[in-house]
Amino acid sequence: METKNWIGGEVVSVVEDRKVVYNPSNLTEEVGVVHCSNENHVLQAETAAKQGFKVWSSLPSAVRGSYLSQMADALQKNIEELATLSSREMGKPIAEMKGEVLRAVNLLKYYAAEGVRSNGNVIPASDSDVLQYTKRVPLGVVGIITPWNFPVAIPIWKIAPALICGNTVIWKPAEIASLTATKMMEIFSTVQLPEGVLNLVIGKGSIVGKTLLEQVDIDAVSFTGSSNTGIQVASICAKRNIKYQTEMGGKNAAVVLNDANIEKTVPIILSGAYRSAGQKCTATSRIIVESNVYENFVGQMERAVSELVTGNALNASSYLGPVASKEQFDSVSAYINQARTEAEIIGEGMSSIESEGFYISPMLATGVDPKHTLVQEEVFGPLAVVLKAQDFEDAMHLCNETVYGLSASVFTNNLSKAHRFLDESDAGMVRVNQETAGVEYQAPFGGMKQSSSHSREQGQAALDFYTSIKTCAIKYSF
Ligand code: NAD
Repeated sequence: METKNWIGGEVVSVVEDRKVVYNPSNLTEEVGVVHCSNENHVLQAETAAKQGFKVWSSLPSAVRGSYLSQMADALQKNIEELATLSSREMGKPIAEMKGEVLRAVNLLKYYAAEGVRSNGNVIPASDSDVLQYTKRVPLGVVGIITPWNFPVAIPIWKIAPALICGNTVIWKPAEIASLTATKMMEIFSTVQLPEGVLNLVIGKGSIVGKTLLEQVDIDAVSFTGSSNTGIQVASICAKRNIKYQTEMGGKNAAVVLNDANIEKTVPIILSGAYRSAGQKCTATSRIIVESNVYENFVGQMERAVSELVTGNALNASSYLGPVASKEQFDSVSAYINQARTEAEIIGEGMSSIESEGFYISPMLATGVDPKHTLVQEEVFGPLAVVLKAQDFEDAMHLCNETVYGLSASVFTNNLSKAHRFLDESDAGMVRVNQETAGVEYQAPFGGMKQSSSHSREQGQAALDFYTSIKTCAIKYSF
C-alpha cells in the first residue's frame, strides 16, 4: 500500500519523497510506502476546502448528520482491516486497536446526532417585541494536525465535530500513521462527501504542518501532539488571531491511599501504565503510594509487572506491543537506561519476541527524588515510577508537582478524601478507582497547565471549539 492525498474529493498521488514503512513488531516486514507532500499540495487543499465550505455550510445540519452516519457505517464494516493495518504500522496491540476503531465509529454516530439537536438559546430581551437568541455558526476551514498514538480515534474526534458544525477540514496526520489515514479516506470515499469537505495531506510537520499553519487562510487549528510542537502551534495561531486548540503531553499520577483495595488497584494501574506500551497521553507514569500500604502495593506490582508479556502487536496474548518507531525506541530506551543507572528497578516484564522489532519490556522503578527527570519528563513508553507519600497531604503535593495537568486518579474508599482529590488535583480529567486513561468519548477531554490550551475536545465541549456564537435580535413589531 502507498499513501495518497485526498484533495477536493479526488485521490492525488504524490510520487516524490518515498519512504518505506516497516512493521515495528517485525522490522523485516514491509507495510507500505509513505510519500511526503510539498507546500503546493497544501495550497491545493486550501482551494478545495474553501470551495467545499460554501456547499457544506449551507446544507441543513441534519443532512450533514446523515453523511456522518454513513461514515460511521463505512468504518464499522472495515474495523478488522483498518485495525490490522494500524497495528502493523504503529505497533498498537490488535485488541486495543479494534477498540479504538470502534470508538471512532461511536464518535461519528454521536456527532451525527448533533445534526438534529438544538444549537442555541433564546434569551429574554428587554423589549417584549424582540426575539433574542444565539446560534452556533461554523468557523470555516479548520486545520487538523494529529499524532500517531491514536491514529484513528484522535483524527475522528476532531473531524466529526468539525464537520457536523459545518466546517471543512484539511487533515495532516503524523508521518507514522499515514497509511492508516490513507485507508480511512479510502473507506470514507464510499460515502461521497461533497468535494473539498474533508481533505487529507500526508507529509512532514516541518513542511505540510508549517505551511498549513503559516500560509493557508485557515480559520482554526486543532492540534494534538507533544508540548514542544503544541506551544509553537499556539504561538503561530495567536499571532494570526486564529482560534486554536492544543492537546499535549502528560505526566499522569495514580495515587494509592492507605485504605485502597490493593488487589483491585494493581491490575487497573498496570493497564493505565503499560497498555499501548505507555504511549498514551493519559498513561499513568507516576504512582504515588501512601506509606502504610507501600510495601504491600510494591510487592504485588513487582509480581504483576514481571508477568506482563511484550510481543507482536497482532498476537492476542501480547499485553503490550513494540513502541511505534525508531525515534520512539531511542527516546524511551534513553529513559530506561537512566532508570537502570539512577533508580532502583522494582520489576520488569517478560517477552515473547520472535522477531526484531522496537520492543521495550515494561519497567517499574523507584528510589528517585520527586524532582528527578524520570518523575518530571514525559517518557511516553512502558516505564512508571513509584513515589512514597507520608500522608494524604504529601500525596496531593506530589501529585500536583508537575508542569503537566492532563489526568489523575486516586484509589480509595474514603469518600471525603476522594472528593478532596477531585477538587485539589490540578488536572483536567480526575478519577476515583479508575485508571488515568480511558475517558469516554461523550465526556469532555483535555488538560490543565502545560497539557492543553484549556479548551476541551469530545462530548458537547467540542461543539464550542468548532463554532462561533452569534447573538441575534429581531424586533418584530416594526
Ligand atoms: P509531535 O508533536 O511530534 O507531532 C504531532 C503532529 O504535529 C504530527 O502530525 C507532526 O507531523 C506535526 N508537527 C510536527 N512539527 C510540526 C510543526 N512545526 N508545525 C506543524 N505541525 C508539526 O507528537 P507525536 O510524537 O506525534 O505524539 C506524541 C505526543 O502527543 C505525546 O507528547 C503525547 O502526550 C501527545 N498526545 C496528547 C494527547 C492529548 O489529547 N493531550 C493525545 C495523544 C497524544
